[in-house]
Amino acid sequence: VKTSSEKIVLPPRDIPNSPGLYEEVEYQEFWTGREKQSLNDLEQAIVRELLPRRGRRLLDLGCGYGRLADCYLDRFEAVVMLDGSLALLRSAQKALGGKAIYVLGDISRLPFSPAAFDAVLMIRVFHHLSASRLCLEEVQKILCGGGRLIMSYSNKRNALRIAKFLAGSTPHNPFSLKQLAVEPNFIHHHPRFVSRLLIETGFKPSHYRGAGVLDRIAAFLPRATKKAHCGVRLAPILGKTFMAPWIFCRAVAEKSQPPRPGEGFGGFLACPACQRALVELRPGFGCENCRREYPERDGIIDLRPDRGRP
Ligand SMILES: [Zn+2]
Repeated sequence: VKTSSEKIVLPPRDIPNSPGLYEEVEYQEFWTGREKQSLNDLEQAIVRELLPRRGRRLLDLGCGYGRLADCYLDRFEAVVMLDGSLALLRSAQKALGGKAIYVLGDISRLPFSPAAFDAVLMIRVFHHLSASRLCLEEVQKILCGGGRLIMSYSNKRNALRIAKFLAGSTPHNPFSLKQLAVEPNFIHHHPRFVSRLLIETGFKPSHYRGAGVLDRIAAFLPRATKKAHCGVRLAPILGKTFMAPWIFCRAVAEKSQPPRPGEGFGGFLACPACQRALVELRPGFGCENCRREYPERDGIIDLRPDRGRP
């Protein structure tokens, strides 16, 4: 997600002759600097808008260091943060302390009971997933009926890609529905592909928002201008027309399963290996069915499927 991937759309004649530049990924220190701060503000505004105002339990799937925590902490009775990186979870924990439950886990085997959540947030995650269908099926399982998934993906048919393709500066056809992996661990998706996948896995997608174009302009507006204001107002248009490099989407889980009744701490955790409910061991959790044990260290529960072998 290099700066270049967020470039303002240029008319074809002005496109620089370096197609590779657009495709480069640079995650380190991505969220530093004024321009990235502006993009961050915009993403937070979009997430705030798409999330329910009140809720019971939210999962931030791929929470990272908790960049979006301000958007949901005061709206939900309980918040669970899951990531595959212990270092990132530690950073989140350092910043947020006891306001959330921290889970080290695998996105393709979510360690939660059915209907455990009424909202799942999955921002800047989908483009890393090779098993995208499996992941959406997992999310569908842990959401209650009417529960919301708020996700973002990298749009392969954004305006700049279309312009570059028409100008002949890239061989990648932005109109094909195929997933596009130009660099390792970074998959760009066609909006129709994502919508279809959501519907096939039991979601009803709606409310599209676009980011990653005009936030760059917003970053250079005078400081007096409200942060990310320009981008926020344009996000619905960029989302509807699927012109932006990043598309945010809200999808509702279409099923009748009611929300899971409230339980004590850990009552909604399930064995990632066999899906049975876990029992508390202090410290950690155990599965009475397959005898796996999942340790808890310094407030982080290790629920990776390969870590619980008896
Ligand atoms: Zn088990």
